Amino acid sequence: MTEQKKRTVALVAHDGKKPHLLDWAHQHHEILKQFNLCATGTTGAMISKELDLPIQRLESGPLGGDQQIGAMIVEQKIDLLVFFWDPLEAQPHDPDVRALLRIASVWNIPVACNRATADLLFSSPILASYQANREDFASYRARTLD
Ligand code: PGA
Repeated sequence: MTEQKKRTVALVAHDGKKPHLLDWAHQHHEILKQFNLCATGTTGAMISKELDLPIQRLESGPLGGDQQIGAMIVEQKIDLLVFFWDPLEAQPHDPDVRALLRIASVWNIPVACNRATADLLFSSPILASYQANREDFASYRARTLD
């Protein structure tokens, strides 16, 4: 049997949603241990401290962490995004939030924006093996404007 590459999950939570993400991560601790983890700065500090999980910490979201995660998605270094964004709070980096959600959609990775969806994803028996279809952008890249 060929050994499967360890998948990477990115975690991001806005301040108003950090307690929710922490509670969710406690609930799914055993599953999270099976993945490489990365997160925006403050979210990552919180998760690694509270759950004692190794985690790659990027910049804080408002300082560019969302964009770093977006770039990693483009480079196919992230397989799944758990992003508890706060619909009741304005964010200084709203353009980055929108850009992250957009690029996750472009590259067709699973995204959980709330706890219900994250619960469903992490209850799936195919979570660890799921491979989303990657669209072939060859014709898009080769397009000309004339
Ligand atoms: P933070 O960033 O984890 O550094 O708080 C999250 C965000 O606001 O995108």
